[in-house]
Amino acid sequence: MDYLFLINWGKEHALTVVAVVITLVFFYHYVIERDKAVKLSKKYRNSIFEVQSRIFLNATQYLISGNKDLAIKEFLNAVDLNRETIETYFALGGLFRSNGEIEKAISIHRSLIARDNISESTRLQALKELAMDFDKGGFVDKAVETYKDVLKINRDQQDVIFSLCRIYEDIGDWDQAYNYRIMLSKVGQENQSETISHILVEKAKSLFEQGQFKACAEELEDAFRFAPSVSAKILRLKIFLVQGKMEDAKGLLLELLKEHPMYATFIFVSLEGFNQKLPLRDEYFQRLGQLKEYFLGLVDLDLMESPSIILSRIRLLKDQKRNGDAFELLDVWMKNHGDSDVLKVEYIKILIEVGKTDEALHHTKSLLNNLHSSLSRHYCSQCGFNSDEIFWRCPQCHNWETIQFRWKV
Ligand SMILES: [Zn+2]
Repeated sequence: MDYLFLINWGKEHALTVVAVVITLVFFYHYVIERDKAVKLSKKYRNSIFEVQSRIFLNATQYLISGNKDLAIKEFLNAVDLNRETIETYFALGGLFRSNGEIEKAISIHRSLIARDNISESTRLQALKELAMDFDKGGFVDKAVETYKDVLKINRDQQDVIFSLCRIYEDIGDWDQAYNYRIMLSKVGQENQSETISHILVEKAKSLFEQGQFKACAEELEDAFRFAPSVSAKILRLKIFLVQGKMEDAKGLLLELLKEHPMYATFIFVSLEGFNQKLPLRDEYFQRLGQLKEYFLGLVDLDLMESPSIILSRIRLLKDQKRNGDAFELLDVWMKNHGDSDVLKVEYIKILIEVGKTDEALHHTKSLLNNLHSSLSRHYCSQCGFNSDEIFWRCPQCHNWETIQFRWKV
């Protein structure tokens, strides 16, 4: 009997209960938000709350006065948003997101998607915004899923495809990164060959790491079909060393150095990277030794103008405990150029090694006088990101091969 009574009462008063609860929840938030909303534009926030509060207040009033029909009509009004109100919702959602209040942005966009009386283009826009909320909030799986949902409705969405490219590159899923770059190259105007080449090189690198040299070489050939990037050439150099193709390796090294002398230090650092557990390890390092000897013996005046080439030679000579040779090489260079602080640091170290402490002190003083800004070794030419690590893809602006060596500090 009690249950039946409750159910009937519930049916009779459902609208009242819902209206009162919504109104209470709404006013609770309104009071809380009013004081908290410092950074977020008050104009947008208030206009939404005004609209909502008017509707809910009216509806509640009608219910209290027993006018059910008008109450229902008022609730329908709340759902029947005009174009302007929807724009305000989008603006508010975007503001919440840029303000870092991701959960609020998500709930606004979710509520828009759930409405059944909006146009398909509005729903698509809301879905896209929702994906961006997840993306910004670091919910990678949900972001990917939602971006893909957007593409299911409309594939011609360059910014969405680009976001998927960025995510897959971030997490190093090179198969998917490749697929979406290809998609982007079909939809967009911009040529994606360079980036696709980089992605295939990354894929090839992971095969190399696993000792699958043959598969790596094949993937690398694909990369060259799109564009001959520096990282592709360095990996090819490593493959040549594995295969024992020394003449090819020497030719390619010379070609690389002539094209990009500033990458000389990266090239040798990259060549040193060879997993201890891989097969052919001893052969690899023995051949690398031959390649280094070839590099140290190169007589090429153009190449010797590059501080990166000099620095690479100095490091190789020091590795071989040939401090005297290193000193002679750098001494000549410093007297003719001398404007690179990075090389000056090397110079001071070598002066100490060979016992010329007075000179070392003199150069240390002049170096310290010039030292004021960042000491990171590399930076991004696009966005200025600083790092001591080598990065082929800038972690900040996501551009490829923008790395620069900092010669002057
Ligand atoms: Zn950058």
